[in-house]
Amino acid sequence: MPKSKTIRRVWALDAPTITVDKSILLVGSGGENVTVPAPSFLIEHDEGLLLFDSGLASEAAGDPAGAYGPLAAMFEMHFPEACRLDRQLEALGFSTADVKRVVLSHAHFDHTGGLQHFPHAEGFIGAGELRYARNADSHTAAFFRNQDLEAAARIQWNELPAGYDHDMFADGSVTLLSLPGHTPGALGLQLRLEDRTLILTGDAAHVRENIDNTVGMPFDADIVNKLDSLRKLKLLKTRPGTTVWVNHDPQDWEKLRSAGKEITAASLQPA
Ligand SMILES: [Zn+2]
Repeated sequence: MPKSKTIRRVWALDAPTITVDKSILLVGSGGENVTVPAPSFLIEHDEGLLLFDSGLASEAAGDPAGAYGPLAAMFEMHFPEACRLDRQLEALGFSTADVKRVVLSHAHFDHTGGLQHFPHAEGFIGAGELRYARNADSHTAAFFRNQDLEAAARIQWNELPAGYDHDMFADGSVTLLSLPGHTPGALGLQLRLEDRTLILTGDAAHVRENIDNTVGMPFDADIVNKLDSLRKLKLLKTRPGTTVWVNHDPQDWEKLRSAGKEITAASLQPA
């Protein structure tokens, strides 16, 4: 029997932030500003480095308006140089060229900024996501950045059909989760860390209340699929030994990184 491959280390990399009215994240809320991380997760696996999402564009560090124009003020982007994806990879002893695989939760600008660094990587994305991004209507066009879509065009993507999960190495260590609705190809990522399962939601949920109350956000592409995906996450949360990490949720960010940027089964244990 082939030896099962494992995840060696996981990092929730230091992230730039954006600040929005809560109504953008949760239908029915509002009137309070929420500052949320735009994260990237790095996974060192026996099969090589894997990146989940790529945050904001490196050239926006220190000068978000230079890279994003009016969006920088609209989303109150805060992006210190230390949060650059390329620099953080170097600080961990890697280079961008070492990243063999990139999983994109979806094509909104706060997830695609770093794709420019990985034209050599094998990509994983939900089916129809790039077509949706390239044909955005006036309601959603501001969420896509042309330079990032050009960078995406240089990556060879494997497309995961909606409704199917995908066990990447056929050993249960890394599983792509189909969570459509926010966008047609929205994905989450499930990681097996020793005795704990970590589920990264991408933007299938933006804050915990989306899952707890089965409520979407105002820019969801398909609300029926979105609510199904929220119910799927709610069900997965009930599994023993499972942590569901809502990637933009500021409380999850603080709590689940309380032991630092390196994430382990032990650091995810509830206090
Ligand atoms: Zn997002």
